[in-house]
Amino acid sequence: MFPALMPTYARADLAFERGEGAWLIAEDHRRFLDFGAGIATSSLGHGHPGLTQAIAAQAQRVLHVSNLYRIPAAEHLAQRLIAETFAHSVFFCNSGAEANEGMVKMVRRTMAETGRPERTRLICFEGAFHGRTLAMLAATNNPKYLAGFGPKVDGFDHVPFGNMNAVRDAIGPHTAGILVEPIQGEGGIRAAPPGFLADLRRACDEWGLLLALDEVQCGMGRTGTLFAYQQSGITPDLLSAAKGIAGGFPMGAILATEAVAKHLGPGTHGTTFGGNPLACAAANAVLDVILAPGFLDQVRARGEQLRAGLEALVQAHPTVLRGVRGIGLMLGLECDVANTALQQACLEHGLLTVAAGQNVLRLVPPLIVTEADCREALDRLGQAAASLT
Ligand SMILES: *Cc1c(COP(=O)(O)O)cnc(C)c1O
Repeated sequence: MFPALMPTYARADLAFERGEGAWLIAEDHRRFLDFGAGIATSSLGHGHPGLTQAIAAQAQRVLHVSNLYRIPAAEHLAQRLIAETFAHSVFFCNSGAEANEGMVKMVRRTMAETGRPERTRLICFEGAFHGRTLAMLAATNNPKYLAGFGPKVDGFDHVPFGNMNAVRDAIGPHTAGILVEPIQGEGGIRAAPPGFLADLRRACDEWGLLLALDEVQCGMGRTGTLFAYQQSGITPDLLSAAKGIAGGFPMGAILATEAVAKHLGPGTHGTTFGGNPLACAAANAVLDVILAPGFLDQVRARGEQLRAGLEALVQAHPTVLRGVRGIGLMLGLECDVANTALQQACLEHGLLTVAAGQNVLRLVPPLIVTEADCREALDRLGQAAASLT
């Protein structure tokens, strides 16, 4: 029989019934340590009392009202994000692709409204991932994802990640801005080389371009700061967030400076669901945890613990593992076997991970992961690696 769910995913034959912290429990009662976190999304793990109670309480009051009315929880959430970042204004939506797509609209709109309507193109990077809408497929430019979905949306130019000479060569009279992930996630946990974001900022300032950061995966505390750019010494003009922002409830956000946001008056952009009371209750509950004193210190400490353990595993299993990359709790294991083989071996040892580009295995656990969880994960990873030697 044809699958009822459209067969766009090669799914593991595994279904989960419930979760507790960093653990997921399958229907057959097997327990898995969740170091994939629904692709870096279940930021507070599973069954987090603050998050589940906030969602339940809001669901009883009101789920949805549309953006035709004030939404105090959205105003509060936006104010909190503004207080922690470069941004002066926030637009809420429902996913990463939608946030990125809105960000591109805002870049173009700003150029059009400041007398440069011919500047419509964005410089993007090889190995990037920005989502699956038609425009974000073009921004991503992965031939595998584009196949059969032509014509490709125009307006995106690609250069090698980290290559400033190529960026400067690509800037032309139609360039409006630069769209970049501070750490490429799907591309293989590739951090921008030191100084690259600052060089991009300088180039944008020199040419009057806008710098738009895709922090859909690396944002919301994942790297040990609320956003990854906060470790770079620069600020962007726009930033997209999603994945972990509401702990698994679907939400996206576009953060922007006033110089950009002032061009987005009533009617210029919109969404039915974006920033509804339920989504904002979830995101405010996530921020309550992430912004609590000491929490991001814990994320950094767990990141260092994992990194040290992974380095030791690389030493111990040199025919399986080659190296470690990433920042905070956004880590990648460079594999000498197929990353999918290691992923499968980890699954068989009760550890969930996610494959990424460049034959890297991603470890992106919930941010609430404990020291004992990390020790257990390293133990299981060691057994999985040994099973492949
Ligand atoms: C996942 C991801 C997206 C797309 O997000 P969706 O919510 O799946 O649309 C965009 N950019 C980055 C960096 C991502 O990791």
